[in-house]
Amino acid sequence: MVAVILLVEVAAALKFNSHLSRGAFLSRLFSLSLTPNMAEKQTTFPHFATQAIHVGQEPEQWKSLAVVPKISLATTFKQESPGVHSGFEYGRSGNPTRSCFETCVAALEGGKHCMSFSSGLAATTSLTHLLSAGDHILCIDDVYGGTNRYFQQCAKKMNIETSFVDCTVIDNVKQAVKPNTKMVWIETPTNPLMKLADIKAISDVIHENHEGVFIVVDNTFASPYFQRPLELGADVVLHSVSKYINGHSDVIMGLVVTSDEDLHKRLRFLQNALGGVPSPFDCYLANRGLKTLHVRMREHQRNAFAVARYLEKSPKVLETIFPGLESHPQYELGLRQMKGYSGMISFRIKGGVEEATTFLKSVKVFTLAESLGGFESLCEHPAIMTHSSVPEEARKVLGITDNLIRLSVGIEDTEDIIADIEQALNAAVPDSK
Ligand SMILES: *Cc1c(COP(=O)(O)O)cnc(C)c1O
Repeated sequence: MVAVILLVEVAAALKFNSHLSRGAFLSRLFSLSLTPNMAEKQTTFPHFATQAIHVGQEPEQWKSLAVVPKISLATTFKQESPGVHSGFEYGRSGNPTRSCFETCVAALEGGKHCMSFSSGLAATTSLTHLLSAGDHILCIDDVYGGTNRYFQQCAKKMNIETSFVDCTVIDNVKQAVKPNTKMVWIETPTNPLMKLADIKAISDVIHENHEGVFIVVDNTFASPYFQRPLELGADVVLHSVSKYINGHSDVIMGLVVTSDEDLHKRLRFLQNALGGVPSPFDCYLANRGLKTLHVRMREHQRNAFAVARYLEKSPKVLETIFPGLESHPQYELGLRQMKGYSGMISFRIKGGVEEATTFLKSVKVFTLAESLGGFESLCEHPAIMTHSSVPEEARKVLGITDNLIRLSVGIEDTEDIIADIEQALNAAVPDSK
């Protein structure tokens, strides 16, 4: 788009030896592109990989024509006259590096507007501030632990109540909606049990019968490369950028995407008013990570399929939970609403906490650590680590047993990954058992 405008302007300048001097022309061009909401002025490309690399990244927005965005550290921006400015005023309300990143992610999610935050949970907090005291949240039961903690221990203090519902059954959703429900919160696939919620069915039921209720989908596990909730009817997509989007385990960040103008306006206000914004350096890193999201996701998926098929055949494994396997109870739904399955797999090792612990201490390619979505393979024990704050009884109901192990399969060599799992399983579960 900018290039086209450039050509048209150059042609006009040559032809008419225009009153527009080169300087005036350039400043017009740059002020045109130097707005925090470049989304509206973007050229759009038909395919994911081209979008990930080019949308929001136009060199024309920098006077140096640099092909990668600058880390713009300024906390404030010069104004031409009071209130007349480039689109950037103060670093909390808008930043050029942040804009490049947000514009690109909006395109990848098929949405109009993206707003980024200092963490996934800061994005969750800001979204919840769309509600008022006395409102109700309907939330999927197998939700990210930090989301559960925020709703139960923080939102509750503001007199916002949350119901946790098994959203794999659509009737449960219908029955749990209350007159004061304002936000429906879905995570799919869920963590650590890889349950899927039918985004389209839930969106249809809510939108048809309950005006003013908006649907948020935490799309962290699938990434926009494999799942685009806005196209299925959701109002808002949330990401922990700390996982697949950044993908290099070196940034804590969050974001939301929406095409709803009213939600966008209110969220843009909250991003600035609550102030949980990411640093320009983190925006630079996340924007850089985004350039290889499609390549990484394809490799994560390829390795995850190999691992899932290996685990499913192993006599040392009782159950393998991966939405891409035909044995997954919602395999059909996965085929319908997802284009692929990322690197997340959970499995139940034969035995209990002792066998699980030995496995986790024996791995060499995998690293025993919380988090997920980075290029490196990670493994963890949900009952002791990521989900220890869930009470034992609730863990039982959900199926987070002591022999459950969660893998974030990275993009190392497939054979090395499988060999590592094999030797760790052999160490944990001797053949005689
Ligand atoms: C990590 C995570 C979050 C929270 O994001 P942070 O960046 O750690 O604040 C939210 N949802 C899911 C599914 C996550 O995995």
